[in-house]
Amino acid sequence: MVDVDKIKKQLEQRVEILSARIEDIKGELRTRPSPDFEEQATEGEADEVLEGLENSGLSEIAQIRAALDRMKTGDYGECQTCGEPIGEKRLEAIPHATQCIKCASLAD
Ligand SMILES: [Zn+2]
Repeated sequence: MVDVDKIKKQLEQRVEILSARIEDIKGELRTRPSPDFEEQATEGEADEVLEGLENSGLSEIAQIRAALDRMKTGDYGECQTCGEPIGEKRLEAIPHATQCIKCASLAD
C-alpha cells in the first residue's frame, strides 16, 4: 500500500525547496544587466540556463500541485490513462507520476 501521507509531506517539502530556488533564480536574473552588447553574449547564455532552470522548476511545481490535488480527490496513484494502479515503486521514484510505467513507456 502506498503511504500517501508520507509522499504528501515529501512533495510539500519539494515544492518549498523548488519555490525557494526559483526565487533565487529570479533575484539572480534581476541583478544582471541586460545583454545589450555582443560582448555580453556569454552572460546572456548563462541567463538562458537560469531561465531553463526556472521553467523546469515551475513545471515540476505544477506537476506536484496536481499530484497533491489528486491526493485530495482520492485519485492519487491511479494511472490517468488506463486507470490501473501506478505502483508503489514507481511512485517512490516519481511521486508526481500520472501514468503507470506501461502507459508512460507507450507515450514515449
Ligand atoms: Zn496506465
